[in-house]
Amino acid sequence: MSAAKIDIDDYFGTTGDIQIAFAQSLNIQNRIRRWIVEEVQPHLGQWWQQGRTPDGMMAQMASLGIFETGGDPKAPGERWPWAYGLAMRELERADSGLRTRASVQCGLVMHAIARFGDDRQRATWLSPLLRGETVGGFALTEAGAGSNPKEMACWCQRKGEYWLLEGNKRWVTNADQADLLVVWAKERDTEEIRGFIVPTTYPGVTRQPISTHASMRLAAPWDVGLSAVRLPVTYCLAGAKGLQAPLACITQARYAVVWGTIGAALDCFHEAMDFTQRRISFGRSLAHSQMIQERLVDMQSHIVAMELRAVQLARLAGRDQLRYPQVALAKRDNARAALSVARIACEILAAKGFELDSRSFRHMANLESVDTYEGTYAVQTLIVGRDVTGLSAF
Ligand SMILES: Cc1cc2nc3c(=O)[nH]c(=O)nc-3n(C[C@H](O)[C@H](O)[C@H](O)COP(=O)(O)OP(=O)(O)OC[C@H]3O[C@@H](n4cnc5c(N)ncnc54)[C@H](O)[C@@H]3O)c2cc1C
Repeated sequence: MSAAKIDIDDYFGTTGDIQIAFAQSLNIQNRIRRWIVEEVQPHLGQWWQQGRTPDGMMAQMASLGIFETGGDPKAPGERWPWAYGLAMRELERADSGLRTRASVQCGLVMHAIARFGDDRQRATWLSPLLRGETVGGFALTEAGAGSNPKEMACWCQRKGEYWLLEGNKRWVTNADQADLLVVWAKERDTEEIRGFIVPTTYPGVTRQPISTHASMRLAAPWDVGLSAVRLPVTYCLAGAKGLQAPLACITQARYAVVWGTIGAALDCFHEAMDFTQRRISFGRSLAHSQMIQERLVDMQSHIVAMELRAVQLARLAGRDQLRYPQVALAKRDNARAALSVARIACEILAAKGFELDSRSFRHMANLESVDTYEGTYAVQTLIVGRDVTGLSAF
């Protein structure tokens, strides 16, 4: 048995191996960690309370190389799947909202254009998104169609040289800063779902904050209205036909959740661990208590299981063998496990945890959203249930 010093962040040595094998992934992780510690962490509580992300944050994330990691899985280099996973983990160590903004930009918007756009669309739209000069949002959900996007009311119709779009989208991340939206709408005649690149400056496009949002306050989603929007035919994603197209993008975003939630859980674990060593109760540090140690080990156990799931998904993705129900299962279990870790941390921190300079409560509130979006726990369960039984219960 080795007598090596333990690394709490990598208790089973799962991610250490990756970083040795993939130098570029290690670089991006270190760059993000430095940026978070020096420029982000000190302000997070205040930003969260104010419900804002400072201007220029997306450009800063771009300059760290984050958007290069997940937008185009076929891009050359070692960026996908390891660098994408590690980048998402580091971002969410700070806040799920930052990670959500990044994974929407690259995993949903850039991925949709890279995968379903034609050469001209890729050449026009991807580089500015990659450099953070433009910001993108992904508008699928509607107030009346969440878990089942097939029920969407937003429609589109080809009228000669342009497409007409009409409808309302809800809970659109990045819509506050977006220059463009990837919008999904149902073709009026055929009922087929189509995807469009919609510049937010186009006449008929409106955006409204959902000011009551109590979770994910660094990336609170907005409402989007589309009223008789006339789009040139070149803005239609020619390769995106049917619900499979947005769902393929969502698999990419679920992969980001699998890795990102590890970061949030680790941050909660560290906060709780530090507190138990400093806080004296009944004449000794809390960390001496058997019940406190049991809670810390429960947290550690969740984190190890999360890491093992994430690393195995990355291995499968690296071999091009990853199936979407596997990602759904890991998203379901990692989001729930991170929530459990955050709740245990809050229980340990007790009243101290409700102050905004504590991190775990903020993570817990954010993770309720993470557990909900890109498909709720129930929806992931039904995806996996269909995969294992061959029967759809949707
Ligand atoms: C912070 C945040 C950011 C978001 N960002 C985006 C974005 O950028 N773009 C976008 O398009 N959307 C976004 N969403 C929307 C998100 O994807 C939806 O909230 C999610 O898909 C669930 O839809 P819903 O909220 O309408 O819940 P519903 O579909 O109304 O579900 C309500 C409840 O019923 C359960 N349920 C539904 N159907 C079944 C069933 N058949 N069997 C059992 N249980 C069922 C669900 O699990 C849930 O518990 C975001 C949401 C949040 C909270």
